[in-house]
Amino acid sequence: YDDRDGKIWMDGKLVEWRDANVHILTHGLHYASSVFEGERCYNGKIFESRKHSERLHYSAGQLDFEIPYTVDEIEAAKMEVLRANGFENAYVRAVAWRGAGEDMGVASARNPVRLAIAAWEWGAYYGDAKMKGAKLDISKWKRPSPETIPSHAKAAGLYMICTLSKHAAEAKGCSDAMMFDYRGYVAEATGANIFFVKDGEVHTPDPDCFLNGITRQTVIGMLKDRQVKVHERHIMPEELEGFEQCWLTGTAAEVTPVGQIGDYNFEVGALTRDIAESYEKLVRA
Ligand code: PMP
Repeated sequence: YDDRDGKIWMDGKLVEWRDANVHILTHGLHYASSVFEGERCYNGKIFESRKHSERLHYSAGQLDFEIPYTVDEIEAAKMEVLRANGFENAYVRAVAWRGAGEDMGVASARNPVRLAIAAWEWGAYYGDAKMKGAKLDISKWKRPSPETIPSHAKAAGLYMICTLSKHAAEAKGCSDAMMFDYRGYVAEATGANIFFVKDGEVHTPDPDCFLNGITRQTVIGMLKDRQVKVHERHIMPEELEGFEQCWLTGTAAEVTPVGQIGDYNFEVGALTRDIAESYEKLVRA
């Protein structure tokens, strides 16, 4: 991803893609003082753009730093990047971090806060799983307690166990992994929230120790519009056996049907297909 033509917005201006570099003593690189967003632009419009920019500010606040650009400035910068690269349909990645500067220990209050925004063309996150249902592994890593880490920030540090889980899953031929939380309840996938269907009703984990995704909230709204009952609650591992359908939600994942989690199988049923197709229409509307 580093050596190519294109433009990246960095600290207020567009730079050449291949020159968008940071110093090796960047605090964020050593201590994970970094937060980011993943967004999708459809036909020239970023879906829920403002919510993503607001979440970026919120995440930075959770990590004790302030982004030196307002939400409005971030909104304008995202459009500038898309225009500069000629993208109408693209994934947008904003990232903010503590840079290199006065401090090279754990503390970093005197180091500058940096912001960069890149965009690239990124198709279906799970490839053809979109049609036939993704196969998920069950991760050995547990989502940590909100008393252990700022669980609701979209912060780089939270992704260490996600990368480990996803590598283990891919080594077993799976597209992703489902993670339990520190109490043993079903939590989410490594970069997407999870939903289950049983007897025409929907069950999804209460996001009390992980990201309450923007896609998740959109899909819950779509289900409520259809008068489908949605239970946001703690889900026990034993319950997986009784669920009939399952899907993942996320900006990159969009709505992806799940066919298998470990030894449990799910059908790509009518409600899953309806929600996946309606989400596609909504984001392009
Ligand atoms: N959980 C994790 C760990 C994620 O990385 C993402 C993707 N941002 C989500 C959930 C879904 O969030 P959203 O729908 O806001 O993209």
